[in-house]
Amino acid sequence: MARYIGPVCRLCRREGLKLFLKGERCYGDKCSYTRRPYPPGQHGQGRIKLSEYAVRLREKQKVRRIYGVLERQFQRYYFDATRRKGRTGEEMLGILESRLDNVCHRLGFATTRMEARQLVKHSHVMVNGKCVDIPSYLLRAGDKITIHERSRKMPALLAALAGVDKRPMMSWLELDKDNFAGTFKTAAVREEMNEPAIREQLVVEYYSR
Ligand code: SF4
Repeated sequence: MARYIGPVCRLCRREGLKLFLKGERCYGDKCSYTRRPYPPGQHGQGRIKLSEYAVRLREKQKVRRIYGVLERQFQRYYFDATRRKGRTGEEMLGILESRLDNVCHRLGFATTRMEARQLVKHSHVMVNGKCVDIPSYLLRAGDKITIHERSRKMPALLAALAGVDKRPMMSWLELDKDNFAGTFKTAAVREEMNEPAIREQLVVEYYSR
């Protein structure tokens, strides 16, 4: 599956908030959004009044960009969510949260989802003892994620794990830092997701318009 390879700081500036797509840089003074908190481009500093449609579109784009998913795949997640029993928006976020790249990032094996994606793509990650190199692989409750033994000395991995204690660990995940392993215990709980800025109802309204 393809991925976005353009400048990511523009995405934060477009969405009007920090999406934390660059790891450490996002927390320092060099953050582009801190320095230029307005949309990119020649008219970025002009007055903008968003239509109802634009508000929903921006919310959809924001969620898509947080999780690093392109439109077609995101649409598929939405339609899969509509077929589930629960509330569509929450189900959709649940699907996004169970992606292997997202879980690797949440567990602390990578500082960003993009870095986690590369970790998976380069076959450093195993699920239930088998190598899985598909970032969009959806985990099920009870799945065990481990870093391949040959990859455990990678500087990027060690640096990411060193900072894991500064971040809150999601209740549906369990990290075994010493053994470079983690468990996806249950489905993600909406209330505990640390992206409170997401208004998933607007995404549902965008697709059901
Ligand atoms: Fe967004 Fe700032 Fe991180 Fe760039 S450095 S990705 S603008 S939060």
